[in-house]
Amino acid sequence: MAETFLNFIAGEWREPSTGQYHENRNPADTEDVIGLFPRSGREDVERAVASAREGFERWKRTPAPARGDVLRRAGDLMTEHKEEIARIMTREMGKVLTETRGDVQEGIDTAYYAASEGRRLFGHTVPSELRDKWAMSYRRPIGICGLITPFNFPMAIPTWKMFPALTCGNSVIFKPAEDVPHTAHMLVELLLEAGLPPDVIQLVHGRGSDVGNVMVEHPEIPVISFTGSTDTGARIGEVCGRMHKRLSLEMGGKNAQIVMPDADLDLALDGVLWGAFGTTGQRCTATSRLLLHDDIHAAFLDRLAQRVRALRLGPGLEQGTDVGPLINRAALEKVEEYVAVARAEGDEVVVGGQRASGAALTRGFFHEPTILAGVRAGSRLACEEVFGPVLSVIRVADLDEAIRVNNEVAYGLSSSIYTRDVRSAFRAINELDNGITYVNAPTIGAEAHLPFGGVKQTGNGHREGGWEVYEFYSETKVAYVDYSGKLQRAQIDNYAGSPS
Ligand code: NAP
Repeated sequence: MAETFLNFIAGEWREPSTGQYHENRNPADTEDVIGLFPRSGREDVERAVASAREGFERWKRTPAPARGDVLRRAGDLMTEHKEEIARIMTREMGKVLTETRGDVQEGIDTAYYAASEGRRLFGHTVPSELRDKWAMSYRRPIGICGLITPFNFPMAIPTWKMFPALTCGNSVIFKPAEDVPHTAHMLVELLLEAGLPPDVIQLVHGRGSDVGNVMVEHPEIPVISFTGSTDTGARIGEVCGRMHKRLSLEMGGKNAQIVMPDADLDLALDGVLWGAFGTTGQRCTATSRLLLHDDIHAAFLDRLAQRVRALRLGPGLEQGTDVGPLINRAALEKVEEYVAVARAEGDEVVVGGQRASGAALTRGFFHEPTILAGVRAGSRLACEEVFGPVLSVIRVADLDEAIRVNNEVAYGLSSSIYTRDVRSAFRAINELDNGITYVNAPTIGAEAHLPFGGVKQTGNGHREGGWEVYEFYSETKVAYVDYSGKLQRAQIDNYAGSPS
């Protein structure tokens, strides 16, 4: 009998008001039921908001260094439970254990960064233009933050949002993706154990179209942070725009790796294998386009095809697996549809191109790692996000063309160039329209202490990670203190006549 999990609302683990549950199954083996998780509704969100309002009143008065101490303990507990969380995550999300360990580690890094930020949260002190007057800015908490997260980084992405929001003194309502609720449950348990006051965090499981939507439309949730698809983000953006909410959107990508003829080609091969097929291609930063210079196109493609044929597809918990399953049936069907589009557009399927066969794999959502060659810039495979183990290879004549092709898609998250030429490297950094460019490294691999995010249809100008995200979760307040004992008029008294 599968275990039943609950929401965490108003300081207690509670059943959803709807009485409904959703079966969470292992994407590598759909006969494996992980547990039943709430399908909550409006009433649960209302209750969470009422409690988070009280939590906010208390937490905003807790000194920021003390808030940081809670996150440090959370980091310690996550370290202690790293292996257990990684296994839970692989079972519900599918990616291989090495990667889920990395996902938890990113959460740990974010916890320690957030803990130390509790002792910074810098403002500015600047000179006033008037005598005997002090001028400064500092950061204040905002209120209740609604956090809506995707399936592909079940620990890292929630912590990117939650930990800075908490360090800044806000309370949070967390709605994880319905495909990965178990990792979310673990995270909230550890935060409570670390000493976070119970009404500061609310966990409401359920569908985006129900719970997520109610959160986005709720007038008492002034901050929404969303990571997910560009389509969903656009709908959320409309509502938040109308309601003047503070909104951070992190959305889709169509990332390219460029390989120049002067590159270390062995390194470039390792890079594209990891970038394209790690996490089964389900990373927002996944390499989904490979831009190969004419001079090395044929030889590089040959070597790449050999390496991709040797990748082992299987359950992420099994030792020796390189590539796990897709997250669910819809994702698998979407990959199949894109391969069909590629064939119809005349692209060459060099490797893969099929749903995986074999008894063990047909119980899960497995698709063969796939390389498409002869993809034309501007075609659907060159422009649309597949979010699966599919790499489109595009031939380019020189760096100018590579930059043009990289930039002609609607997204702008990550890019990479392999070259030994410092001029090409710096041109790429400057001219590729992305939030992140890697030189001699794949398109994936962000570190928690640097800002993360994309341009164009990938984001709306905010960044997660590093120091920048603290600005999103706090409001700037400016204070002037005039101790001159007389009325001093800015812009007037100091310029009224000659300086005295
Ligand atoms: P998604 O389908 O857009 O879902 C993301 C989250 O939004 C889930 O929790 C989902 O709930 C919820 N949601 C769905 N409809 C909603 C609505 N109308 N109102 C409020 N919330 C709603 O995305 P996904 O398939 O999980 O993730 C894949 C996408 O995320 C890709 O496009 C990828 O590039 C992007 N991504 C971007 C970044 C980045 O930092 N740029 C990082 C990771 C992923 P349920 O699914 O539970 O119903």
